[in-house]
Amino acid sequence: MQKIKIENTFAQDWIRMFAHLANLFFEQCEIITEDAENASKVDFIFKELEGNKLSAKAILNYEGKQYEATFSEIEEVGDAKVKSRQLKRIYSHVFLEVLEQATEMKQSWGILTGIRPMKLYHKYRREGLDSEEAVEKIMKNYRVSREKGELLAKIAAIQLRSVPDLYDLKDEVSIYIGIPFCPTKCAYCTFPAYAIRRKSGRVESFLDGLHEEIREMGRWLTEKDMKITTIYFGGGTPTSIEAEEMDELYKTMYESFPNMEAVREITVEAGRPDTITPAKIDVLKKWGIDRISVNPQSYTDETLKAIGRHHTVQETVDKFWLSRNMGMKNINMDLIIGLPNEGMAEFEHSLAETEKMQPESLTIHTLSFKRASEMSQNRNKYKVADRKTVEQMMKLGEEWNEKNGYDPYYLYRQKNILGNLENVGYAKPGEESIYNIVIMEEVQTIIGVGCGASSKFIDRNTGRIKQFYNPKDPAAYILTYEESIEKKLAFLDGIFPETVKK
Ligand code: SF4
Repeated sequence: MQKIKIENTFAQDWIRMFAHLANLFFEQCEIITEDAENASKVDFIFKELEGNKLSAKAILNYEGKQYEATFSEIEEVGDAKVKSRQLKRIYSHVFLEVLEQATEMKQSWGILTGIRPMKLYHKYRREGLDSEEAVEKIMKNYRVSREKGELLAKIAAIQLRSVPDLYDLKDEVSIYIGIPFCPTKCAYCTFPAYAIRRKSGRVESFLDGLHEEIREMGRWLTEKDMKITTIYFGGGTPTSIEAEEMDELYKTMYESFPNMEAVREITVEAGRPDTITPAKIDVLKKWGIDRISVNPQSYTDETLKAIGRHHTVQETVDKFWLSRNMGMKNINMDLIIGLPNEGMAEFEHSLAETEKMQPESLTIHTLSFKRASEMSQNRNKYKVADRKTVEQMMKLGEEWNEKNGYDPYYLYRQKNILGNLENVGYAKPGEESIYNIVIMEEVQTIIGVGCGASSKFIDRNTGRIKQFYNPKDPAAYILTYEESIEKKLAFLDGIFPETVKK
């Protein structure tokens, strides 16, 4: 275990942040405040310079050598909170730089540790910076590489091409409907995904609650004559339930929600190929739904077995073509970089197989070790590719997408993601998922119904976000959904006190 002692008491307020940054470089690193054997040491020097400039210097003593970094910038105008945020960023900056020198490792996302780096780029653009200025500012303030900065700019341009009114969607809402069942649980998963067992009556009770939630939200939306931008069925795997249950659910949705003709897209995740049947596709078509995802994750059977997917590669291919031939016009597929025992050869194979199908969109995830997943809890059982290999795989994914006519259109990051990389959604022009864009950029209120559904209520004036989570577990959901409905309606009344004028 690597240990780094912080020499200054004033910097100890930000220990968690320093630990987070240090762990990007070392397998395990602890930031300490007392002397310890073999610990490295970091000392910070702070100065206020002429011209309202703040300057910080870090001096790191690591394995017998000394490394130094200095950074200064104009003090931001604002209250104590603004100043504290700026100082935290400046200290992160110099701390990261000395670690980069000492380890000879470059962090392409710099000190950006949040899930949504795109939001920062959009913020700067909305403040009036042009694209190059926004990229420059992100590079300078956050030590982000030019490559990643330009990726943000490219994605934002595609988002605005796909949703030209992206910054003006706050008077509409989108709806997320969470169905928490899957045939089995994948080893890396922390979503609400309960093995579907029909005998317990749990599925039926959950669906009763879900119908009720949809009806109640629909009543409120109808009263306000609200427009719905997108509707997204996620989970779990929403196609885990029976075809008749899907049919009833979509019927309730169409009967309850207003202005359904104006909804820009309805998506149903059918991620697990083993849940897709002709009868279920018929139901989707009956209700005019033709956007689904069929998720291979990998095209190597041993990997699928190792991660507990319980379906074969052949089944993915068969169900893709079944869906396509029965009329699904927009199919998304997900691949994951860095699955156990996979390297360049397996990923190249996955891309070659994807090439034969040409789905409308392809999301390339990088494996992340989420704390509650089976994989994280038994980490030693799973051998994953090293940092350099996952970087090469990401690059290969980028090149493949370009060659095959896909544009990157949304991006997000996760904690404990391999190689400190990112997840990127690619799509053929015009086939982007609007829901993925609006949820990532947090431009409008999202009403979540069903298990594990997170609602985001966005204040139309301040942009402040309040989140509300429905329980993940169907048993808890069944007991609490009525209370959740009340709470969500109260939030919605607060944000939309009057009927929205159209
Ligand atoms: S299919 Fe998706 S939601 Fe279901 S267990 Fe696997 S990762 Fe989780």
